[in-house]
Amino acid sequence: MKRAEVFEFFRRLAEANPSPTTELESGNPYQLLVAVVLSAQATDASVNIACRPLFERIKAPRQMVDFGEERLRDAIKTIGLFNTKAKNVIALSQALIDRHNGEVPKTREELQALPGVGRKTANVVLNTAYGEETFAVDTHVFRVCNRTGLAPGKTVDEVEAKLDKIVPQPFRRDAHHWLILHGRYTCKARLPECWRCPVIDLCRYKPKTLAPEERTKSTASRSGSRGSSTARTAKGRTASRLRASRSRSRPSRLP
Ligand code: SF4
Repeated sequence: MKRAEVFEFFRRLAEANPSPTTELESGNPYQLLVAVVLSAQATDASVNIACRPLFERIKAPRQMVDFGEERLRDAIKTIGLFNTKAKNVIALSQALIDRHNGEVPKTREELQALPGVGRKTANVVLNTAYGEETFAVDTHVFRVCNRTGLAPGKTVDEVEAKLDKIVPQPFRRDAHHWLILHGRYTCKARLPECWRCPVIDLCRYKPKTLAPEERTKSTASRSGSRGSSTARTAKGRTASRLRASRSRSRPSRLP
């Protein structure tokens, strides 16, 4: 995508949603970090349901360590991979107490050194808690960037590097939220809703999805034309069968 198109792409997403943010609920950077760790391969909605009662009583790493792994496991058992995640949350809480005085660090290196914290989690925390211009690439962002031609790449690292290079001001801070929300609600994995997409003319994805009523019409007209071709075929078959039976009834050679 050309520079001007990239600008227009984000301008339109920004116009539709001027203040995007994460859908994960949290009250402070520590709770955000825990929520993001729990959200791996799980929906934000499922994490919010599990975390609402948990975050009522746990707001800091010390409280989490005192709460303990067993009770945490029980509190998050509705979330996928809860065993490993409970272990990681307790270990990262202990690491925050031991290495960072109970605070969530503000550098990528320190964040990624915590148990269960990868590059994407660090990017979300740096961006959402500390306002850094980072580009967390999750499955939605990866799909949107490749489909649209905005920042194509074979790996999440490649896509992240391209976003970092091409996203202009004043969109850098919120770009990843816009892309996540666009992928989650419009440019969906199985059937992108192109007919109501604000960036349809900028997007390089060729098989654009028609509006539901147009899809119904086009299916109906296809089955209509299939019907007449069936009739033609049937007619053709009948004619050839007649020809064959006539030729069978005719002697092949005159006596
Ligand atoms: S036009 Fe379709 S494929 Fe392209 S960004 Fe919009 S929803 Fe996604």
